[in-house]
Amino acid sequence: QAKDAGRGCFAYFSEDLTLAARERIALESRLRRAIEQQELRVFYQPQVDIASGRIVGAEALVRWEDPVEGLIPPIRFIPVAEETGLILAVGEWVLRETCRQGRQWLDEGLPPITLAVNVSPHQFRRSDICGLVATVVAETGFPSNQLEMEITESGLMANQDNAADILNCLRGQGIRLAIDDFGTGYSSLAYLKHFPLDLLKIDKSFIDDIPDLQDDMEIAATIIAMGHILGFKVLAEGVETPEQLAFLQEKGCDMYQGYFKSRPVPAAEFAGLLRGQSGYEG
Ligand code: C2E
Ligand code: MG
Ligand code: MG
Ligand code: MG
Repeated sequence: QAKDAGRGCFAYFSEDLTLAARERIALESRLRRAIEQQELRVFYQPQVDIASGRIVGAEALVRWEDPVEGLIPPIRFIPVAEETGLILAVGEWVLRETCRQGRQWLDEGLPPITLAVNVSPHQFRRSDICGLVATVVAETGFPSNQLEMEITESGLMANQDNAADILNCLRGQGIRLAIDDFGTGYSSLAYLKHFPLDLLKIDKSFIDDIPDLQDDMEIAATIIAMGHILGFKVLAEGVETPEQLAFLQEKGCDMYQGYFKSRPVPAAEFAGLLRGQSGYEG
């Protein structure tokens, strides 16, 4: 009896795995087609300077607009893209589209802002990201000092041998460099000080429970203070409430991103936010 149950269990799990594998393969080929059919979109989320309250940048975040399913969030396809290597095509498309859009906004007279693009660990490790950025910047005419590349802590740690060379190469072109999701990986501020970084982005998980969790408030305050000692600007991710913003302001955090200001929005809507800022004369 026990043996039967055991076999049943085994059969159940193996079918389950097969299903997962099949779904992954199906998603991979759908995604490949989505890239060809131009179904990917870039949304922009404002990055706000805390002292002035003004939008000084935006993070480019990919979405997949499936004709049947509608907008598919990155969590549903970035992990598969990362496993299959398709992330290289996705990442290149997002970079080119963001720089094209940024150049167009400048040509339309919008104020210059920083545009931040995510670099996946696979892309950081397996591709010539520095060469790609040089090509795309030259092609689109977007100023390299307005382009920021976001690398996660885990991306950096997974490529300890080449990380410094790649970051120095990007920095050599005038590209700005940010560490994404800081606090969730295994790096330390002492390790990060060896790299030419501009910005630390404190992970949303440390912001969520401010002002209820004393520990998280102390962690966030410490990251801000130590980040500044090391010469980095600090941005808080996932700010949703005025209490969180007030705390960050008191601790001297430089910038924030979050639903409190705006969700990621389509390009036209983001341009509207920029135009609507007081003092904009364009
Ligand atoms: P991320 O780079 O850490 O981006 C921030 C995520 O937090 C975004 O989710 C954003 O919508 C969300 N967020 C921002 N403020 C708030 C807030 O106040 N509350 C809540 N609940 N969420 C907030 P999104 O757009 O779903 O992207 C998720 C992740 O997918 C990104 O995390 C990034 O790791 C990945 N991703 C998105 N676009 C790209 C891309 O073009 N390339 C790569 N490699 N990864 C991407
Ligand atoms: Mg990011
Ligand atoms: Mg992040
Ligand atoms: Mg994240």
